[in-house]
Amino acid sequence: MPNQFTHYHTQSGWAALLPSNPIKASTVTHSFEVDYIVVGAGFAGIAAARELALATPMADIALIEAGQLLQNSSTRNSGFMIDLPYTKIDQRSDVAVQKWQIDLMAHGRACLWSQVKEDPELASYWTEVGHYKGASTRIGSQTIQKIEQILKDKQIDYKKLDTAQAQRLLGTNYYRDVLWMPRCTLVQPAVLLKRLLNTLPKNVHVFIDSKVTATTSSAKGVQLKIGVHSIQAKKVVWAINSHLAELGLERTKQLSVYTYACLTEPINSLQQSLGNAAFWGLTPAEQLEATMRKLPDGRLLFRAGFSYKKELPTIEQRNLLYEGIIKRYPSIREDQLQFVWGGAVSITRNGAPIFKRKNNNEIIISGCNASGILKMTALGDLAAADILNKRNKILVSTKKYSKPSYIPPEPLRRLAINIKINKLKKELSA
Ligand SMILES: Cc1cc2nc3c(=O)[nH]c(=O)nc-3n(C[C@H](O)[C@H](O)[C@H](O)COP(=O)(O)OP(=O)(O)OC[C@H]3O[C@@H](n4cnc5c(N)ncnc54)[C@H](O)[C@@H]3O)c2cc1C
Repeated sequence: MPNQFTHYHTQSGWAALLPSNPIKASTVTHSFEVDYIVVGAGFAGIAAARELALATPMADIALIEAGQLLQNSSTRNSGFMIDLPYTKIDQRSDVAVQKWQIDLMAHGRACLWSQVKEDPELASYWTEVGHYKGASTRIGSQTIQKIEQILKDKQIDYKKLDTAQAQRLLGTNYYRDVLWMPRCTLVQPAVLLKRLLNTLPKNVHVFIDSKVTATTSSAKGVQLKIGVHSIQAKKVVWAINSHLAELGLERTKQLSVYTYACLTEPINSLQQSLGNAAFWGLTPAEQLEATMRKLPDGRLLFRAGFSYKKELPTIEQRNLLYEGIIKRYPSIREDQLQFVWGGAVSITRNGAPIFKRKNNNEIIISGCNASGILKMTALGDLAAADILNKRNKILVSTKKYSKPSYIPPEPLRRLAINIKINKLKKELSA
């Protein structure tokens, strides 16, 4: 029997807070043929299906989802849409690569904005507030200094906060250095994804509970096996995030990592202790540290921790998240964590995403590297354009720079990950 939450132990808190009016979808009950198939109903797959449908209004597009809607990583994230990759930008010396990264994020944002700008409920899930970057260690402070220099060089507005100012604004003295930076939109990801699904063009047919278990390709097109049925199409976009290896689509360029998040219940007494602003978001300067958001109703969103390949048991997720929360907000009680969940992300060794043709009829997109709302939306849209043989500048540079490097197989892979995690842990205690 399929797990209610597809690949996960628990439901995403963002999705749990939504009213339960269903999204139109069917299940696969017979074999059939369509013009295009998109596999995976996250940000990537929805963007691809939408672009295919708009560009070919007479075609039929099947959007195939293994589980229920609104239960994937796209509704499990922290909701930061940062369209300037501040922290990565200095690690890539090539100016053209930097420009492409920024253009890609802008492209993703434009795709999403075109879908939400007319929505009267927009204000409840889309807030353009910028965000904080916080350092709790010496190494983190060095990163903050580097980012500050980049922002200065690029003449981007920012503010630097000391511990006392951070305490006033964020309600904690955990951070030794904090930067406020613009160009970040905070979203309620499940509301956003629901809106995107509900506004798909009519020629997109959404199928749930329809896990693809095998695929065959021929000159005529591609055939996907779903249960005892099969669906045939001329072309297929694979947008299945970290599940590529299960279908043998990509084994050597990406791996699957789980990270964890929780939402507290609305905490009246905390409204004040979480700082003066009605809402804010903070990402960490250190890779292993936590992401946080204060929501307007007095909830705290807290994301932390990683595990390789396998989701931790729920009790361990809860413990690791609570441990991080009380270091910052000692007055929060463990029973105030209302929703706790995990989500999988696809990680590549050099941070480059996957955008590759499997053959003439199939394209694979993945490698979000834990920040995929904008990136995977952009790649979904561009994958559809590529399948349709369209050409544009951003597509050309995406093909050029989406080159993830080789990751060795097990047991070397696990060893390398453990070495990296231990190194990062040491940095945290330095
Ligand atoms: C806790 C957490 C916090 C995060 N925070 C942020 C953030 O603040 N900002 C940000 O930009 N990103 C963030 N991310 C990353 C972001 O959520 C992902 O990059 C993004 O959702 C990936 O979208 P996707 O469409 O590629 O994949 P998914 O949303 O995972 O969708 C893939 C879909 O494919 C389906 N699928 C898989 N296999 C099959 C199959 N065989 N047949 C049919 N369907 C299949 C899955 O069921 C799933 O629905 C975070 C992720 C997590 C887990």
